[in-house]
Amino acid sequence: MSDLVTESFVDGASVGSAETYPNIDPSTGAVLGDVARAGGGEIDQAVTAARRASRGWRASTPEQRSDLLAALAGLIDREVETLARLESEDSGKPLSQARNDTRVCARYFRFYSRVIESYYGLSIPLRPDLHVYTRREPLGVAGGIVAWNYPMQLFGRGVAPAIATGNAVVLKPADETPRTAVYLARLATEAGLPPGVINVVTGLGPEAGAALAAHPGIDHLSFVGSTEVGRLIAGAAAQRVVPVTLELGGKSAHLVFGDANVERAATVIANAILQNAGQTCSAGSRVLADERVHDELLQRIADRFATVSIGPGVTDPDLGPLVSRRQQDRVRGYVESATEAAIVCGGTVAEPDGITGGAYFTPTLIDGVDPNAKIAREEIFGPVLTVTTFAAEDEAIALANGTDYALMGAVWTTDLARAHRVAAQIDGGQVYVNTYGAGGGVELPFGGFRKSGYGREKGVEALDAYTATKTVVVQL
Ligand code: NAD
Repeated sequence: MSDLVTESFVDGASVGSAETYPNIDPSTGAVLGDVARAGGGEIDQAVTAARRASRGWRASTPEQRSDLLAALAGLIDREVETLARLESEDSGKPLSQARNDTRVCARYFRFYSRVIESYYGLSIPLRPDLHVYTRREPLGVAGGIVAWNYPMQLFGRGVAPAIATGNAVVLKPADETPRTAVYLARLATEAGLPPGVINVVTGLGPEAGAALAAHPGIDHLSFVGSTEVGRLIAGAAAQRVVPVTLELGGKSAHLVFGDANVERAATVIANAILQNAGQTCSAGSRVLADERVHDELLQRIADRFATVSIGPGVTDPDLGPLVSRRQQDRVRGYVESATEAAIVCGGTVAEPDGITGGAYFTPTLIDGVDPNAKIAREEIFGPVLTVTTFAAEDEAIALANGTDYALMGAVWTTDLARAHRVAAQIDGGQVYVNTYGAGGGVELPFGGFRKSGYGREKGVEALDAYTATKTVVVQL
Protein backbone atom coordinates (compact mmCIF):
# COMPACT_ATOMS: atom_id res chain seq x y z
CA MET A 1 0.00 0.00 0.00
CA SER A 2 1.23 3.54 -0.67
CA ASP A 3 2.21 6.13 1.94
CA LEU A 4 -1.08 7.86 1.32
CA VAL A 5 -3.00 5.01 2.92
CA THR A 6 -3.57 5.34 6.65
CA GLU A 7 -3.59 1.82 8.06
CA SER A 8 -4.49 0.38 11.43
CA PHE A 9 -1.68 -0.09 13.97
CA VAL A 10 -2.02 -3.41 15.77
CA ASP A 11 0.47 -5.26 17.97
CA GLY A 12 3.24 -2.81 17.08
CA ALA A 13 2.82 -3.02 13.27
CA SER A 14 0.74 -1.60 10.43
CA VAL A 15 -2.21 -3.67 9.30
CA GLY A 16 -3.93 -3.02 5.98
CA SER A 17 -7.48 -3.81 4.98
CA ALA A 18 -8.92 -5.10 1.73
CA GLU A 19 -10.88 -1.91 1.21
CA THR A 20 -10.23 1.78 1.80
CA TYR A 21 -12.24 5.00 1.92
CA PRO A 22 -11.10 8.54 1.08
CA ASN A 23 -9.92 10.98 3.73
CA ILE A 24 -11.37 14.37 2.76
CA ASP A 25 -9.79 17.71 3.68
CA PRO A 26 -12.75 19.84 4.85
CA SER A 27 -10.82 23.04 4.15
CA THR A 28 -10.79 22.38 0.39
CA GLY A 29 -12.77 19.23 -0.36
CA ALA A 30 -9.59 17.61 -1.73
CA VAL A 31 -8.68 13.99 -0.99
CA LEU A 32 -5.81 13.78 1.52
CA GLY A 33 -5.31 10.05 1.00
CA ASP A 34 -7.06 6.79 1.72
CA VAL A 35 -7.89 5.09 4.99
CA ALA A 36 -7.95 1.35 5.61
CA ARG A 37 -11.58 0.32 6.06
CA ALA A 38 -11.17 -2.30 8.75
CA GLY A 39 -13.89 -4.71 9.77
CA GLY A 40 -14.43 -7.51 12.24
CA GLY A 41 -11.23 -9.35 11.25
CA GLU A 42 -8.89 -6.49 12.12
CA ILE A 43 -10.84 -5.75 15.32
CA ASP A 44 -10.46 -9.38 16.34
CA GLN A 45 -6.74 -9.26 15.62
CA ALA A 46 -6.40 -6.10 17.72
CA VAL A 47 -8.41 -7.46 20.65
CA THR A 48 -6.36 -10.68 20.61
CA ALA A 49 -3.12 -8.67 20.63
CA ALA A 50 -4.41 -6.45 23.41
CA ARG A 51 -5.48 -9.46 25.49
CA ARG A 52 -2.03 -11.01 25.21
CA ALA A 53 -0.25 -7.70 25.93
CA SER A 54 -2.48 -6.95 28.91
CA ARG A 55 -1.16 -10.01 30.79
CA GLY A 56 2.39 -8.68 30.97
CA TRP A 57 1.32 -5.06 31.21
CA ARG A 58 -0.88 -5.55 34.28
CA ALA A 59 2.08 -7.23 36.03
CA SER A 60 4.33 -4.20 35.48
CA THR A 61 4.86 -1.80 38.38
CA PRO A 62 3.22 1.62 38.55
CA GLU A 63 6.70 3.10 38.34
CA GLN A 64 7.45 1.27 35.07
CA ARG A 65 4.15 2.36 33.54
CA SER A 66 4.66 5.89 34.81
CA ASP A 67 8.07 6.12 33.11
CA LEU A 68 6.66 4.89 29.79
CA LEU A 69 3.70 7.28 29.87
CA ALA A 70 6.08 10.15 30.60
CA ALA A 71 8.34 9.06 27.73
CA LEU A 72 5.35 9.05 25.38
CA ALA A 73 4.37 12.53 26.57
CA GLY A 74 7.88 13.71 25.68
CA LEU A 75 7.65 12.24 22.17
CA ILE A 76 4.24 13.85 21.60
CA ASP A 77 5.71 17.22 22.56
CA ARG A 78 8.64 16.57 20.22
CA GLU A 79 6.24 15.87 17.33
CA VAL A 80 3.92 18.80 17.97
CA GLU A 81 4.29 20.35 14.50
CA THR A 82 3.74 17.08 12.61
CA LEU A 83 0.79 16.02 14.73
CA ALA A 84 -0.81 19.46 14.66
CA ARG A 85 -0.62 19.60 10.88
CA LEU A 86 -2.19 16.14 10.46
CA GLU A 87 -4.97 17.09 12.88
CA SER A 88 -5.57 20.42 11.18
CA GLU A 89 -5.78 18.82 7.73
CA ASP A 90 -8.08 16.00 8.85
CA SER A 91 -10.46 18.13 10.92
CA GLY A 92 -10.06 21.64 9.49
CA LYS A 93 -9.27 23.10 12.89
CA PRO A 94 -6.93 26.13 12.99
CA LEU A 95 -3.29 25.14 13.36
CA SER A 96 -2.77 26.91 16.68
CA GLN A 97 -5.77 25.04 18.14
CA ALA A 98 -4.33 21.78 16.80
CA ARG A 99 -0.99 22.60 18.45
CA ASN A 100 -2.80 23.19 21.71
CA ASP A 101 -4.65 19.86 21.34
CA THR A 102 -1.28 18.13 20.84
CA ARG A 103 0.07 19.63 24.05
CA VAL A 104 -3.10 18.66 25.92
CA CYS A 105 -2.71 15.10 24.63
CA ALA A 106 0.87 15.04 25.98
CA ARG A 107 -0.42 16.50 29.24
CA TYR A 108 -2.85 13.58 29.67
CA PHE A 109 0.00 11.09 29.49
CA ARG A 110 2.15 13.20 31.84
CA PHE A 111 -0.70 13.76 34.30
CA TYR A 112 -1.59 10.06 34.53
CA SER A 113 2.09 9.09 34.68
CA ARG A 114 2.25 11.15 37.88
CA VAL A 115 -1.00 10.18 39.57
CA ILE A 116 -0.68 6.45 38.96
CA GLU A 117 2.18 6.22 41.45
CA SER A 118 -0.08 7.42 44.26
CA TYR A 119 -3.25 5.57 43.32
CA TYR A 120 -3.79 3.35 46.36
CA GLY A 121 -6.22 0.87 47.80
CA LEU A 122 -7.57 1.09 51.34
CA SER A 123 -6.85 -0.66 54.58
CA ILE A 124 -10.12 -1.31 56.44
CA PRO A 125 -9.93 -1.70 60.26
CA LEU A 126 -12.75 -4.25 60.50
CA ARG A 127 -11.58 -6.32 63.49
CA PRO A 128 -8.27 -6.74 65.33
CA ASP A 129 -7.95 -10.33 64.12
CA LEU A 130 -8.59 -9.50 60.46
CA HIS A 131 -6.33 -7.73 58.01
CA VAL A 132 -8.58 -6.24 55.28
CA TYR A 133 -7.38 -4.30 52.30
CA THR A 134 -8.54 -3.34 48.82
CA ARG A 135 -6.72 -3.54 45.50
CA ARG A 136 -7.65 -1.57 42.37
CA GLU A 137 -7.26 -4.10 39.59
CA PRO A 138 -7.22 -3.40 35.83
CA LEU A 139 -10.18 -4.75 33.87
CA GLY A 140 -8.18 -6.15 30.94
CA VAL A 141 -8.89 -4.83 27.46
CA ALA A 142 -10.48 -1.40 27.11
CA GLY A 143 -12.24 -0.54 23.85
CA GLY A 144 -12.56 3.13 22.87
CA ILE A 145 -14.66 4.71 20.12
CA VAL A 146 -14.23 8.45 19.73
CA ALA A 147 -15.53 11.48 17.80
CA TRP A 148 -13.74 13.67 15.25
CA ASN A 149 -13.85 16.99 17.02
CA TYR A 150 -10.80 16.65 19.32
CA PRO A 151 -9.10 13.48 18.07
CA MET A 152 -5.84 13.85 19.98
CA GLN A 153 -7.41 15.13 23.17
CA LEU A 154 -9.85 12.23 23.12
CA PHE A 155 -6.99 9.79 22.51
CA GLY A 156 -5.10 11.11 25.55
CA ARG A 157 -8.19 11.30 27.72
CA GLY A 158 -9.19 7.68 27.07
CA VAL A 159 -5.93 5.86 26.48
CA ALA A 160 -3.75 7.43 29.20
CA PRO A 161 -5.85 6.47 32.27
CA ALA A 162 -6.62 3.03 30.77
CA ILE A 163 -2.98 2.05 30.28
CA ALA A 164 -1.78 3.81 33.46
CA THR A 165 -3.96 1.40 35.43
CA GLY A 166 -2.60 -1.64 33.56
CA ASN A 167 -5.17 -2.21 30.82
CA ALA A 168 -4.45 -2.63 27.11
CA VAL A 169 -6.46 -0.60 24.61
CA VAL A 170 -8.12 -0.96 21.22
CA LEU A 171 -9.17 2.43 19.89
CA LYS A 172 -11.38 3.17 16.87
CA PRO A 173 -10.79 6.79 15.85
CA ALA A 174 -13.52 8.72 14.04
CA ASP A 175 -13.90 7.97 10.33
CA GLU A 176 -12.94 11.56 9.38
CA THR A 177 -9.85 11.93 11.59
CA PRO A 178 -7.80 8.72 11.78
CA ARG A 179 -4.26 9.90 11.20
CA THR A 180 -3.13 11.33 14.54
CA ALA A 181 -4.37 8.26 16.44
CA VAL A 182 -2.26 5.98 14.25
CA TYR A 183 0.72 8.32 14.62
CA LEU A 184 0.34 8.39 18.40
CA ALA A 185 0.18 4.58 18.57
CA ARG A 186 3.46 4.42 16.62
CA LEU A 187 5.03 6.94 19.00
CA ALA A 188 3.97 4.73 21.91
CA THR A 189 6.06 1.90 20.45
CA GLU A 190 9.01 4.27 20.06
CA ALA A 191 8.55 5.32 23.70
CA GLY A 192 9.00 1.67 24.69
CA LEU A 193 5.44 0.57 25.37
CA PRO A 194 5.12 -3.15 24.63
CA PRO A 195 3.43 -4.02 21.32
CA GLY A 196 -0.28 -4.63 21.76
CA VAL A 197 -0.77 -2.27 24.69
CA ILE A 198 -2.14 0.44 22.39
CA ASN A 199 -3.85 -0.68 19.17
CA VAL A 200 -5.64 1.63 16.74
CA VAL A 201 -8.09 0.23 14.18
CA THR A 202 -9.28 2.61 11.45
CA GLY A 203 -12.63 2.30 9.71
CA LEU A 204 -16.27 3.27 9.65
CA GLY A 205 -18.54 3.43 12.66
CA PRO A 206 -21.14 0.83 11.68
CA GLU A 207 -18.36 -1.58 10.63
CA ALA A 208 -15.18 -1.35 12.73
CA GLY A 209 -16.94 0.59 15.50
CA ALA A 210 -19.83 -1.82 15.79
CA ALA A 211 -17.45 -4.82 15.66
CA LEU A 212 -15.42 -3.39 18.53
CA ALA A 213 -18.48 -2.63 20.65
CA ALA A 214 -19.78 -6.17 20.14
CA HIS A 215 -16.47 -8.03 20.60
CA PRO A 216 -16.61 -10.57 23.44
CA GLY A 217 -12.97 -9.90 24.37
CA ILE A 218 -13.58 -6.32 25.50
CA ASP A 219 -13.78 -5.66 29.26
CA HIS A 220 -14.63 -1.95 29.22
CA LEU A 221 -16.08 0.38 26.61
CA SER A 222 -15.73 4.13 26.41
CA PHE A 223 -17.60 6.10 23.82
CA VAL A 224 -17.43 9.76 22.81
CA GLY A 225 -19.97 10.78 20.22
CA SER A 226 -23.65 11.32 19.59
CA THR A 227 -26.46 10.28 21.92
CA GLU A 228 -27.94 8.19 19.12
CA VAL A 229 -24.83 6.02 18.67
CA GLY A 230 -24.16 6.07 22.42
CA ARG A 231 -27.44 4.24 22.88
CA LEU A 232 -26.24 1.46 20.53
CA ILE A 233 -22.91 1.20 22.34
CA ALA A 234 -24.61 0.95 25.73
CA GLY A 235 -26.88 -1.76 24.28
CA ALA A 236 -23.90 -3.75 23.02
CA ALA A 237 -22.17 -3.38 26.40
CA ALA A 238 -25.32 -4.52 28.21
CA GLN A 239 -25.49 -7.70 26.12
CA ARG A 240 -22.09 -8.74 27.45
CA VAL A 241 -22.31 -7.02 30.84
CA VAL A 242 -19.29 -4.75 30.46
CA PRO A 243 -19.04 -1.32 32.04
CA VAL A 244 -19.34 1.62 29.69
CA THR A 245 -18.58 5.33 29.89
CA LEU A 246 -20.70 7.53 27.61
CA GLU A 247 -19.60 11.06 26.79
CA LEU A 248 -22.37 12.36 24.54
CA GLY A 249 -23.70 15.66 23.31
CA GLY A 250 -24.45 18.94 25.02
CA LYS A 251 -26.48 22.13 24.80
CA SER A 252 -24.75 24.07 27.55
CA ALA A 253 -25.99 27.49 28.62
CA HIS A 254 -24.32 30.73 29.67
CA LEU A 255 -26.50 32.48 32.25
CA VAL A 256 -25.56 36.16 32.02
CA PHE A 257 -27.10 38.10 34.91
CA GLY A 258 -27.71 41.84 35.08
CA ASP A 259 -24.76 42.39 37.43
CA ALA A 260 -22.23 40.54 35.24
CA ASN A 261 -19.07 41.96 33.73
CA VAL A 262 -20.63 41.99 30.27
CA GLU A 263 -17.48 42.87 28.38
CA ARG A 264 -15.65 39.86 29.76
CA ALA A 265 -18.66 37.56 29.36
CA ALA A 266 -19.06 38.56 25.70
CA THR A 267 -15.39 37.92 24.92
CA VAL A 268 -15.29 34.51 26.58
CA ILE A 269 -18.67 33.38 25.18
CA ALA A 270 -17.73 34.41 21.63
CA ASN A 271 -14.30 32.79 21.74
CA ALA A 272 -15.70 29.56 23.21
CA ILE A 273 -18.17 29.09 20.34
CA LEU A 274 -15.57 30.05 17.72
CA GLN A 275 -13.19 27.42 19.12
CA ASN A 276 -13.14 24.43 16.78
CA ALA A 277 -15.96 26.10 14.83
CA GLY A 278 -18.39 25.35 17.65
CA GLN A 279 -17.88 21.59 17.26
CA THR A 280 -17.27 21.06 20.95
CA CYS A 281 -19.58 18.89 23.06
CA SER A 282 -19.18 21.40 25.87
CA ALA A 283 -19.57 24.49 23.64
CA GLY A 284 -21.70 27.06 25.45
CA SER A 285 -24.14 27.31 22.56
CA ARG A 286 -27.08 28.88 24.37
CA VAL A 287 -26.90 32.41 25.75
CA LEU A 288 -29.50 33.18 28.41
CA ALA A 289 -29.38 36.93 28.80
CA ASP A 290 -30.85 39.01 31.61
CA GLU A 291 -33.03 41.62 29.91
CA ARG A 292 -30.98 44.36 31.59
CA VAL A 293 -27.77 43.42 29.75
CA HIS A 294 -29.22 41.78 26.65
CA ASP A 295 -28.52 44.61 24.18
CA GLU A 296 -24.98 45.32 25.31
CA LEU A 297 -24.10 41.63 25.39
CA LEU A 298 -25.36 40.98 21.87
CA GLN A 299 -23.65 44.05 20.48
CA ARG A 300 -20.33 42.99 21.95
CA ILE A 301 -20.62 39.42 20.66
CA ALA A 302 -21.62 40.65 17.19
CA ASP A 303 -18.65 43.05 17.20
CA ARG A 304 -16.31 40.16 17.99
CA PHE A 305 -17.85 37.96 15.29
CA ALA A 306 -17.35 40.78 12.76
CA THR A 307 -13.56 40.61 13.25
CA VAL A 308 -13.25 36.86 12.68
CA SER A 309 -10.91 35.59 9.95
CA ILE A 310 -12.14 32.47 8.10
CA GLY A 311 -9.96 30.11 6.08
CA PRO A 312 -8.27 26.70 5.81
CA GLY A 313 -7.15 25.30 9.15
CA VAL A 314 -3.49 25.15 8.11
CA THR A 315 -3.45 28.94 7.48
CA ASP A 316 -4.38 29.36 11.16
CA PRO A 317 -7.45 31.59 10.91
CA ASP A 318 -9.79 32.36 13.83
CA LEU A 319 -12.35 30.02 12.29
CA GLY A 320 -11.71 26.99 10.10
CA PRO A 321 -14.28 24.91 8.24
CA LEU A 322 -16.66 22.44 9.83
CA VAL A 323 -15.48 18.84 9.68
CA SER A 324 -17.40 17.96 6.50
CA ARG A 325 -19.92 19.16 3.96
CA ARG A 326 -22.40 16.93 5.72
CA GLN A 327 -21.89 18.85 8.94
CA GLN A 328 -22.16 22.13 7.02
CA ASP A 329 -25.56 21.03 5.65
CA ARG A 330 -26.67 20.08 9.12
CA VAL A 331 -25.73 23.47 10.59
CA ARG A 332 -27.37 25.32 7.71
CA GLY A 333 -30.53 23.25 8.23
CA TYR A 334 -30.71 24.22 11.90
CA VAL A 335 -30.23 27.91 11.13
CA GLU A 336 -32.88 27.80 8.41
CA SER A 337 -35.30 26.17 10.84
CA ALA A 338 -35.17 29.25 13.08
CA THR A 339 -37.81 31.13 11.10
CA GLU A 340 -39.37 32.79 14.16
CA ALA A 341 -36.07 34.16 15.46
CA ALA A 342 -33.87 37.09 14.35
CA ILE A 343 -30.47 36.44 12.82
CA VAL A 344 -28.27 39.22 14.22
CA CYS A 345 -25.24 38.21 12.15
CA GLY A 346 -23.92 35.30 10.08
CA GLY A 347 -26.24 32.45 9.18
CA THR A 348 -24.62 31.62 5.85
CA VAL A 349 -22.07 29.26 4.37
CA ALA A 350 -18.78 30.90 3.39
CA GLU A 351 -16.28 30.49 0.56
CA PRO A 352 -13.11 32.21 1.81
CA ASP A 353 -10.61 33.07 -0.95
CA GLY A 354 -13.05 31.60 -3.46
CA ILE A 355 -12.64 28.05 -2.07
CA THR A 356 -15.82 26.35 -3.22
CA GLY A 357 -15.16 22.84 -1.89
CA GLY A 358 -14.78 23.74 1.80
CA ALA A 359 -17.26 23.30 4.65
CA TYR A 360 -17.25 26.85 6.03
CA PHE A 361 -20.00 28.55 8.01
CA THR A 362 -20.02 32.15 9.24
CA PRO A 363 -20.18 32.93 12.98
CA THR A 364 -23.87 33.21 13.71
CA LEU A 365 -25.85 34.97 16.42
CA ILE A 366 -29.59 34.35 16.63
CA ASP A 367 -31.76 36.40 18.98
CA GLY A 368 -35.28 35.93 20.30
CA VAL A 369 -35.06 32.14 20.25
CA ASP A 370 -38.08 30.31 21.65
CA PRO A 371 -36.78 27.83 24.26
CA ASN A 372 -39.01 25.15 22.72
CA ALA A 373 -37.63 25.63 19.20
CA LYS A 374 -35.53 22.86 17.67
CA ILE A 375 -32.55 25.21 17.49
CA ALA A 376 -32.78 25.81 21.27
CA ARG A 377 -33.08 22.13 22.19
CA GLU A 378 -30.88 20.17 19.79
CA GLU A 379 -27.14 20.23 19.43
CA ILE A 380 -26.14 22.27 16.36
CA PHE A 381 -22.37 21.65 16.51
CA GLY A 382 -21.37 24.75 14.57
CA PRO A 383 -20.34 28.38 15.27
CA VAL A 384 -23.90 29.32 16.20
CA LEU A 385 -25.13 31.03 19.37
CA THR A 386 -28.83 31.25 20.22
CA VAL A 387 -30.06 33.91 22.61
CA THR A 388 -33.09 33.78 24.90
CA THR A 389 -33.94 36.57 27.36
CA PHE A 390 -34.95 36.14 31.01
CA ALA A 391 -36.15 38.45 33.78
CA ALA A 392 -35.58 36.42 36.98
CA GLU A 393 -33.08 33.95 38.42
CA ASP A 394 -35.53 31.05 38.68
CA GLU A 395 -36.54 31.54 35.08
CA ALA A 396 -32.88 31.47 33.97
CA ILE A 397 -32.25 28.20 35.85
CA ALA A 398 -35.36 26.58 34.38
CA LEU A 399 -34.26 27.60 30.88
CA ALA A 400 -30.72 26.30 31.49
CA ASN A 401 -32.08 22.92 32.59
CA GLY A 402 -34.76 22.82 29.92
CA THR A 403 -33.16 20.50 27.38
CA ASP A 404 -32.52 16.75 27.36
CA TYR A 405 -28.79 17.43 27.62
CA ALA A 406 -26.98 18.29 30.84
CA LEU A 407 -23.25 18.59 30.25
CA MET A 408 -22.02 22.01 31.39
CA GLY A 409 -23.04 25.54 32.26
CA ALA A 410 -21.67 28.97 33.10
CA VAL A 411 -22.88 31.63 35.52
CA TRP A 412 -21.92 35.23 34.87
CA THR A 413 -22.52 37.41 37.93
CA THR A 414 -20.67 39.56 40.47
CA ASP A 415 -22.97 38.36 43.27
CA LEU A 416 -21.05 35.63 45.11
CA ALA A 417 -24.12 34.12 46.77
CA ARG A 418 -25.93 33.94 43.46
CA ALA A 419 -22.92 32.33 41.81
CA HIS A 420 -22.92 29.38 44.22
CA ARG A 421 -26.69 29.16 44.47
CA VAL A 422 -27.10 28.92 40.70
CA ALA A 423 -24.04 26.65 40.21
CA ALA A 424 -25.66 24.14 42.56
CA GLN A 425 -28.89 24.15 40.57
CA ILE A 426 -27.52 23.77 37.04
CA ASP A 427 -27.74 20.20 35.74
CA GLY A 428 -24.31 19.35 34.36
CA GLY A 429 -20.97 17.76 35.12
CA GLN A 430 -19.07 21.06 35.18
CA VAL A 431 -20.21 24.59 36.02
CA TYR A 432 -18.03 27.64 35.48
CA VAL A 433 -18.44 30.99 37.21
CA ASN A 434 -17.24 34.09 35.33
CA THR A 435 -15.15 31.94 33.03
CA TYR A 436 -15.64 29.03 30.66
CA GLY A 437 -13.57 26.02 29.71
CA ALA A 438 -14.99 24.50 26.54
CA GLY A 439 -13.19 21.21 26.11
CA GLY A 440 -10.50 22.00 28.67
CA GLY A 441 -9.23 20.59 31.94
CA VAL A 442 -7.12 17.42 32.00
CA GLU A 443 -7.29 17.49 35.80
CA LEU A 444 -11.03 18.19 36.12
CA PRO A 445 -13.58 15.36 36.27
CA PHE A 446 -15.81 15.69 33.21
CA GLY A 447 -19.03 14.11 32.03
CA GLY A 448 -22.75 14.54 31.80
CA PHE A 449 -26.08 13.97 33.39
CA ARG A 450 -29.18 12.79 31.49
CA LYS A 451 -28.73 12.49 27.69
CA SER A 452 -25.20 13.89 27.88
CA GLY A 453 -24.09 10.49 29.14
CA TYR A 454 -22.74 8.91 32.30
CA GLY A 455 -19.45 8.14 33.93
CA ARG A 456 -16.60 10.58 34.37
CA GLU A 457 -13.43 10.98 32.37
CA LYS A 458 -10.43 13.20 33.15
CA GLY A 459 -8.84 13.84 36.53
CA VAL A 460 -7.90 11.22 39.09
CA GLU A 461 -11.50 10.00 39.08
CA ALA A 462 -11.06 8.48 35.59
CA LEU A 463 -8.73 5.84 37.05
CA ASP A 464 -11.68 4.29 38.88
CA ALA A 465 -13.48 3.64 35.56
CA TYR A 466 -10.66 1.43 34.31
CA THR A 467 -10.27 -0.62 37.49
CA ALA A 468 -12.41 -2.73 39.79
CA THR A 469 -12.00 -3.03 43.54
CA LYS A 470 -10.98 -6.35 45.05
CA THR A 471 -11.27 -6.67 48.82
CA VAL A 472 -8.90 -9.12 50.51
CA VAL A 473 -9.74 -10.43 54.00
CA VAL A 474 -6.99 -12.19 55.97
CA GLN A 475 -7.57 -13.99 59.29
CA LEU A 476 -4.61 -13.17 61.50
P1 NAD B 1 -21.03 9.76 16.10
O1 NAD B 1 -21.77 9.22 17.26
O2 NAD B 1 -21.64 9.72 14.77
O3 NAD B 1 -19.61 9.05 15.96
C1 NAD B 1 -18.73 8.90 17.05
C2 NAD B 1 -17.91 7.64 16.85
O4 NAD B 1 -18.79 6.53 16.82
C3 NAD B 1 -17.11 7.60 15.55
O5 NAD B 1 -15.86 6.99 15.80
C4 NAD B 1 -17.96 6.72 14.67
O6 NAD B 1 -17.21 6.05 13.70
C5 NAD B 1 -18.52 5.75 15.67
N1 NAD B 1 -19.77 5.10 15.26
C6 NAD B 1 -20.74 5.59 14.44
N2 NAD B 1 -21.72 4.69 14.29
C7 NAD B 1 -21.37 3.60 15.03
C8 NAD B 1 -21.98 2.34 15.28
N3 NAD B 1 -23.15 2.02 14.74
N4 NAD B 1 -21.35 1.49 16.11
C9 NAD B 1 -20.18 1.81 16.67
N5 NAD B 1 -19.54 2.98 16.46
C10 NAD B 1 -20.13 3.87 15.65
O7 NAD B 1 -20.70 11.24 16.56
P2 NAD B 1 -19.96 12.36 15.74
O8 NAD B 1 -20.96 13.03 14.88
O9 NAD B 1 -18.74 11.80 15.13
O10 NAD B 1 -19.48 13.33 16.91
C11 NAD B 1 -20.22 14.39 17.34
C12 NAD B 1 -20.91 14.08 18.64
O11 NAD B 1 -19.96 13.72 19.65
C13 NAD B 1 -21.63 15.27 19.19
O12 NAD B 1 -22.89 14.89 19.65
C14 NAD B 1 -20.75 15.72 20.34
O13 NAD B 1 -21.40 16.45 21.31
C15 NAD B 1 -20.22 14.43 20.84
N6 NAD B 1 -19.01 14.63 21.65
C16 NAD B 1 -19.10 14.48 23.01
C17 NAD B 1 -17.99 14.69 23.81
C18 NAD B 1 -18.08 14.55 25.31
O14 NAD B 1 -17.06 14.42 25.95
N7 NAD B 1 -19.27 14.57 25.90
C19 NAD B 1 -16.77 15.04 23.23
C20 NAD B 1 -16.71 15.18 21.84
C21 NAD B 1 -17.85 14.96 21.06
